[in-house]
Amino acid sequence: MVAFSIILMNQPFINGKTKLLGVIGDPVEHSLSPVMHNAAIAHLGVNYIYLPFPVRQDALATALDGFAAIGVQGINLTIPHKQAVIPLLSEITPVAQAIGAVNTLWRTETGWSGTNTDAEGFIAPLKALNRDWSQVIPLILGNGGAARAVVAGCAELGCPEIGVVGRDRQKLDKFKQSWQNTPFKDRLSVHTWDKLSEMVSNTQLLVNTTPVGMSPKIEQSPVEAALLQQLPQGAIAYDLIYTPSPTRFLQLAQQQGVTTLDGSEMLIQQGAAALHLWLDTPIPVEIMRQALLDQLRIKGK
Ligand code: NAP
Repeated sequence: MVAFSIILMNQPFINGKTKLLGVIGDPVEHSLSPVMHNAAIAHLGVNYIYLPFPVRQDALATALDGFAAIGVQGINLTIPHKQAVIPLLSEITPVAQAIGAVNTLWRTETGWSGTNTDAEGFIAPLKALNRDWSQVIPLILGNGGAARAVVAGCAELGCPEIGVVGRDRQKLDKFKQSWQNTPFKDRLSVHTWDKLSEMVSNTQLLVNTTPVGMSPKIEQSPVEAALLQQLPQGAIAYDLIYTPSPTRFLQLAQQQGVTTLDGSEMLIQQGAAALHLWLDTPIPVEIMRQALLDQLRIKGK
């Protein structure tokens, strides 16, 4: 009975005026966004609900028209829609344009507008460390989708140079080329993994954006302990992976006494930024954090 009452208390009250938010993807069942967003919505007492919608790649345009027709207020996007949605938008923010991917939509009179809150999410825990970013040269491991948000975030922080390490020379060159129309194009350099050992000792911020260390291969680290020993004093090791936490990479970095960050705060803060955009009210980030961490604990069991 007690458990039942608690569940009811946490349910949003749905009536004829309830406004819809949601996340679309394929698959979308694994998404942690509904748990985080509905916790914040319940705490704020606003008349919204946030739902997961499985939308196939070939149904994206139809789904967006349908969402507009029924008055959906805001949408998050995950794989495989983040790039595919761009031609369907009436407006895109410069940061989403630079990243080349959109994770948040809102409706305007002319159609759907899009932005990307991943860079904002990525830099939120870094800003909290209060460093002088004009002295920090980050080194980013991997050159996929998440690395793009990390590059945009590091540029936003004001880092004077940004290094990206990847395993495929052609992909690296394409990655570099894709930033040609941005103000920070000259601050970006790309390198193959064999150059990593020469660069680690000069970086104050080492970011893993590869999936190396994710479940089930949790014993793997993208960088060996011997290389991590070369990180300078006061360096930060940041892994975008949030499960497991800490990853092997962060465990090895902790042994070197450097500051470590996992990917959970990025996930929370990109969600909080989207919710702020839709609701235009202060967001209870701690409520979202608790909801996410509880969910990750449940999943980990
Ligand atoms: P992605 O687009 O597939 O990019 C992955 C990158 O890692 C690619 O550059 C890939 O290289 C490289 N890579 C893959 N396996 C590797 C290996 N064994 N050794 C070296 N490099 C390897 O994926 P993504 O969307 O960027 O996501 C990457 C990671 O970030 C995932 O773990 C994801 O969960 C995490 N992430 C976290 C958040 C958050 O909010 N915390 C947000 C987004 C992503 P190639 O291109 O050569 O294959």
